[in-house]
Amino acid sequence: MESVVPGMTTLSVVIPMFNETAVIPALVTRLRPVLDALGIDYEVVAVDDGSRDDTVAVLFDHARDWPQLRVVRLRRNSGHQAALTAGLHRAVGRWVVSLDADLQDPPEAIADMLRAAREDGVDVVYGVRADRSTDTVFKRNTARVYYWLMRRLVGADLPAQAGDFRLLSRDVIEVLRRLPERAPVYRLLVPSLGFPSAEVRYVRAARVAGQTKYPLRRMIALAWESTANFSAAPLRLATWLGMCSFLLCLGLIAFGMVAYVAGATIPGWTSMFVAVLLLSGVQLVCLGLLGDYVGRIYATVQNRPAFHVGFDSLDDVPRAATVGPIGDESRAPVVGARG
Ligand code: UDP
Ligand code: MG
Repeated sequence: MESVVPGMTTLSVVIPMFNETAVIPALVTRLRPVLDALGIDYEVVAVDDGSRDDTVAVLFDHARDWPQLRVVRLRRNSGHQAALTAGLHRAVGRWVVSLDADLQDPPEAIADMLRAAREDGVDVVYGVRADRSTDTVFKRNTARVYYWLMRRLVGADLPAQAGDFRLLSRDVIEVLRRLPERAPVYRLLVPSLGFPSAEVRYVRAARVAGQTKYPLRRMIALAWESTANFSAAPLRLATWLGMCSFLLCLGLIAFGMVAYVAGATIPGWTSMFVAVLLLSGVQLVCLGLLGDYVGRIYATVQNRPAFHVGFDSLDDVPRAATVGPIGDESRAPVVGARG
């Protein structure tokens, strides 16, 4: 499969899997008819994320009579986003859909995504969860906080409630492949690239079998990864703390002076008090300044392109979708991506 030229197959479906033995039979039973009915050539890239159960063996079992099923195994558990990276980088399709193994996102929507991509001429089609009443109250609320925070970090063009069920064109995949980032968070990275996009809404179902592989610990890790990936704001916290303690310090100096004049202090107290306050404020401000430069170094190392050219009339004829009116976010021409 490695020798296959990228873009030769029409559709790739990338599925990261970690200890998913219990869901694979249901997944195959539901996914295969959907893909066969599309009437196009396709591949399914199942990425086994270092499972400790029989995921790989079960996958190979199914691959025997499903030639389009391709199995990629990571040597060790590297996390959902890393497994997704492995799959996206190896997929050869003209269009690439990423899907969770647990059938929470309906494979039937792939047909709608493909249709939207082809008819509207867009590069990205987000699967947007119109209803997630099958998720727990806890999951729904943590998700709401997460998307609220991320919209503030990435900007308003982040589709709300869009997880990792989406379709990407070969152009997007090639841009993603060239990014040197070690740990991309795709649900933020893809919107930040600014490709023309569309949405397909669906109802999120309950997991068909097995347990969630995203316990609270991993959810917090993803939230932190997302924040640190897109913002140096936490680094700048020291500056703000420094400013606040500096202001506080001014007030306390005045208080110390009054106490000194009133003779209400023991000798040496005022000078110590003021020195400690002043120095800690100055130190925090300096730490914040350092943080700001570290943030800039980080952004440079991430090496995200400052902009993506949608088209150049000198080179190519614009597709309908890339020349929509500015303001319509899903159609706006790409003039620059947020760094
Ligand atoms: N997953 C993975 N590696 C991990 C954790 C999860 O490949 O370390 C896969 C998992 O098999 C599933 C997808 O990522 O296909 C999403 O995980 P899950 O459905 O458990 O997350 P939830 O829907 O509960 O947020
Ligand atoms: Mg799930």
